Amino acid sequence: MRAEARLGDQMYALCERLYPIVRSITGDGVRRTLREIGELIPLELHEVPSGTQVFDWTVPPEWNISDAYIVNERGERIIDLREHSLHVVSYSEPVRACLSLEELQQHLHSLPEHPNWIPYRTSYYSRSWGFCLTHAQRMSLAPGRYEVVIDSRLEPGSLTYGEYFVPGERDEEFLVSTHVCHPSLANDNLSGIAVATFLARRLTAEGRLRCGFRFIFVPSTIGAITWLARNQNRLGRIAGGLVISGVGDRGGFTYKRSRSGGVIDRVFERVLRRRGTPHRIEPFSPYGYDERQFCSPGIGLPVGCLMRTPFGQYPQYHTSADDLSFITPESLEETVDVCAEALAEFALVRRYRNLSPYCEPQLGRRGLYDAIGGENDKKSAQMALLWMLSYSDGTHSTLDISDLSGLSLETLDRAASRLCDARLLAPC
Ligand code: ZN
Repeated sequence: MRAEARLGDQMYALCERLYPIVRSITGDGVRRTLREIGELIPLELHEVPSGTQVFDWTVPPEWNISDAYIVNERGERIIDLREHSLHVVSYSEPVRACLSLEELQQHLHSLPEHPNWIPYRTSYYSRSWGFCLTHAQRMSLAPGRYEVVIDSRLEPGSLTYGEYFVPGERDEEFLVSTHVCHPSLANDNLSGIAVATFLARRLTAEGRLRCGFRFIFVPSTIGAITWLARNQNRLGRIAGGLVISGVGDRGGFTYKRSRSGGVIDRVFERVLRRRGTPHRIEPFSPYGYDERQFCSPGIGLPVGCLMRTPFGQYPQYHTSADDLSFITPESLEETVDVCAEALAEFALVRRYRNLSPYCEPQLGRRGLYDAIGGENDKKSAQMALLWMLSYSDGTHSTLDISDLSGLSLETLDRAASRLCDARLLAPC
């Protein structure tokens, strides 16, 4: 139990390190974030030049910012990017101006319904600039002149993403994706990064994986689109995938099904049900995280999305209240456990063909009736042989057989490998 508690703490510590970084869809904030993740897993960084065409999109200019502030007539910095990364609208163009309060108001964003929270705003694809602040502070601004400085650069550069592949026995791959573009927001972003990173570490440590696991850390939307555009020749190998986001809060799990349905949806539903943890299953919809790109009709990958409280359904979403106190080490760690269990099941799902399908083959003659282990194990091991032989008609997978028989995928997998050794079964 103590070792488990430490995992959650390590995950939380990663979130703490990443929290202050000024991140956006491109720029040094993303690079610093990926390098920090690279301390924990051997992440490969990719740079895609601005202007690169990726399907219907174009990689935007790179955005970097060194300073942003508002100074009042008394010379006081009343808003300062250094105090909170949410204070400036992400992708703000550079500005240096002296404005009246009225003029300044056109560029301010606040939340009247939550007067002490700073909203998160972006302006990726239209040039503008702005500041975000608490409504309480906005109300306290006196008429007068304000000096406004945004020291940002929008220049040709590149979009950065990170990728890490854990190889498996088969060529088949499973894709895990999380976004890395939000600034100081803990649940909507850092939790997904922490879970993907520590899930990758766990799978690496386990070794001997049946299928490969590819982890991508991408800026949302444009990053996923860029990765897909550059990896079209690899998509045929991807048997399923998962987008992880918003998984550190105290709420129960929400699993959103893939558009095409399939094994990934079934294993998550099984694992969540079996664990008895509060959860709900949602149908696919074309609104949400990067599952939108992975499930688009031309790409067509079976990719689900794991969240806790769904985005937009908690008031802290996209505000400064989604801070480190909104996520917990326990929630982060439990999410890794759920993902690891579901992905382990996913890797065990296969279809076989019975090579001796005319009546039952004679098992005793082949020594297949002396399963090792205790009485119960022996009985289920023997039943697993019969279930595998009976349903391995090329259409039923081990997941189907597990549902029908109540036997675990591990038990069926062991039976399958014994039957393959005896040349009674062959993978499809
Ligand atoms: Zn978001």
